[in-house]
Parts: sequence; structure tokens; C-alpha cells
Amino acid sequence: MIHRVLIVGSGFSGAVLARQLADLGGISSLVIDSRNHVAGNCHTERDEGTGILVHRYGPHIFHTDRADVWAYVNRFGEFRPFVNRVKASIPRGVFSLPINLHTINQFFGKRLNPEEARAFLQSKADRGIGEPANFEEQALKFIGRELYEAFFQGYTRKQWGCEPTELPASILTRLPVRFSYDDNYYNSPFQGMPAEGYTEIVRRILDHERIALRLETTYDPAMAGEFSHVFHTGPLDEYFRHRLGRLSYRTVFWEKSESTGDFQGNAVINYPGMEVAHTRVHEHKHFAPWEKHEKTLSFVEYSKETGEGDIPYYPKRLSGDKELLAAYAALARGEERVSFLGRLATYRYMDMHQVIGEAMDFASDWLAAAAAGTPFPVFPPKSAL
Ligand code: UDP
Repeated sequence: MIHRVLIVGSGFSGAVLARQLADLGGISSLVIDSRNHVAGNCHTERDEGTGILVHRYGPHIFHTDRADVWAYVNRFGEFRPFVNRVKASIPRGVFSLPINLHTINQFFGKRLNPEEARAFLQSKADRGIGEPANFEEQALKFIGRELYEAFFQGYTRKQWGCEPTELPASILTRLPVRFSYDDNYYNSPFQGMPAEGYTEIVRRILDHERIALRLETTYDPAMAGEFSHVFHTGPLDEYFRHRLGRLSYRTVFWEKSESTGDFQGNAVINYPGMEVAHTRVHEHKHFAPWEKHEKTLSFVEYSKETGEGDIPYYPKRLSGDKELLAAYAALARGEERVSFLGRLATYRYMDMHQVIGEAMDFASDWLAAAAAGTPFPVFPPKSAL
């Protein structure tokens, strides 16, 4: 018999899980969050002085290739069309991202057509690389040294605080390389921005008679006794009070400035070179182009290693981290009536759409296990934990 469950964290993982358990299984939950707002790092709020919708923990642009995930988020609020067109500013000029036909022609001073550009980049590629073993090899194999050094090497060093040879190739495969003038940062067929922000979407997901929410409440193991199951969406190592050590994350921070008019004419401009310390600048009113604001807010973004008290953003997953992760995963499997879900609890670089899709699938798997009387899943199957 299932009574109430406890869900730790009100980001997309916790919120979607709570809603699916309620809608599909009639299960009641208490969702707690240590912050004073829902939506985790997707939190958006209106800036008091300007009225601009600010992505408080950095820009989030919704995109997915899963029709069910797109339908799901659209149930809870209006999404407006938005295409992320990122520019890269380097000493030589301003270029189009992701690497596309315009970037190639601008950068090399050519007028190549798609077929010629493909052959041209192949001539630049390092043919000695078979299966790319790391980020740098992935870049050298597909775009060659010049584009890699101009757009990826410095950014990646600044963003991750290590050499690109230490990072997995998968970080680079997030970004497309195109032989057309399509400069959409994402390939996903479904893309958009919530008209009223992500926090409003999450608030509505949680707005259900079987879901109770308690903010500014930190998880304490003593709470578990009152619930039939605990779902943890916070950092895995934090759940175990870092008893085996800390998983490494990069954190980001911003210098905010307010001015009138238009600061940079675009939502995101990247600064890939080492001549400046920041990685990118975002101007948040451009994420909601249907709104009109006289003033503007820009955020210069920097990255650094996560210290105690900093917010963990990007899981580094270096080799030492992977060993530690395996050790924590073994501890997690030894816990009773606890499951771990989401970006922080599974220590993966996940986008919103992946988190939502996985929470939907996980809720179904968990309900199926409950109905069949089989053991509850501890981690989502795709997490490879
Ligand atoms: N990247 C880069 N130069 C850029 C943009 C991205 O080198 O101009 C690399 C960098 O390592 C970054 C990764 O590609 O961490 C993924 O970029 P994405 O824009 O997806 O990062 P996010 O928006 O998640 O911070």
C-alpha cells in the first residue's frame, strides 16, 4: 500500500515526477525545496526595476525532439516561438554560431556552397583520428584546428577550467556543424520560450490537490520515516553528506548591468578567446522578443570551480569523478525506499527537455513496479548508474 511520498527538489525533475505520480497513480506527495522558489535553476523572475523577465540562474532555452515532452510543457502554459541565434565575438570580428556555412565563409574569406564547404572542412580535418577519445579530438576530426582554436579551445578552457583533452567528446556533440546558412543553435523540431517564464510553468505543474509544497525546507533523513518512498533530486554526494568526497562541478556567476536601449542586439554573444576572462554575455529581454522594455539588463558570465556554498551547475565527470560516482551509486543502491532522479542526483549534463522526459518515463516505471510488486528503480535506466 502506497501512502504519501516525499520528493526532494522542486525543479523540473521533482515537479514532473510529483505531477505524474498524482495524475497517473493517484499518489500524494510532499515536495520540498531548500530555496524560496520552485523551478530550480530554470527559475525566472521579473526584475523589480525594469520588469524584464530574468533567468536568474542563467539562460534556458526550451528545445526537444520528443513530441510528448513538448505537448506536456504546453499543457502548463503558452510557449512562444523562439530561435536561439548565438554569435561569437573574437578579435577578428563577430561570427555566426553554431559553425555553419556563414561561419566557414566569413572565417576563411570564401564563398563556398554547401558541397564545397564540406570538402573544404574535410581537407582541414585531422584524418589520423579514428574514434575521438575526447573533446579536442572530436573538434580536430570534424572542423580542423583553425576553427577549433578560434571558437572552442579558449571557451572550453574558461568554461571547464581544464584542458579540452580531459573532457568527453559528448560535450562538443551538443553543438551541430552545418553546411547551410541555418544558424539555429539547436536541431530540435520543437523550440520555444514560456511566455510567462519557467517558474510559472513549474508552479502550474505542482498545482494539484495531491501535491503539497514546502519551500525553504532542507531534507533531513529523519523526515523519511513519515513517507513510503523518498525521491531525491538534489546532488547525490550531498545526500550522503559527502562522506566519500565531493563530485566536481563548475559553477557560473555574473556581472549584471543595467542601461537603456539595446546593449548588444542579441540574446547571447559568446567570447571564445582567452583575451577576455568571461565566456558569454546575455541580454535577457531578447529572450522574450514579444515584450517591449525601454531599459535593458545584461549579464557577463564567468565560470569557476565550485566551492562550498556555490551552486553546482555543470558536472565535470573527469575520471576521478566517475570513480567517486560509482562508489556513491553503490551506496544509493543500498538505501531502502529511496530513488534518485535528475541532473544533480545522477550527475549528468542534462537539458530541461531531457530532465522532463526522464521524469515522465521514471514515474511510469516506478508506478509499474509498484503495481507489479517488483523492486522500485533506484536510478533511471538511461542514467547508466
Ligand atoms: N563551446 C565552445 N564555444 C562556444 C560554445 C560552446 O567551445 O562558443 C563548447 C564549450 O565547451 C561548452 C560546450 O561547447 O561547454 C557546450 O556548449 P553549450 O552552448 O551547449 O553550453 P550551455 O549553454 O549548456 O552552457
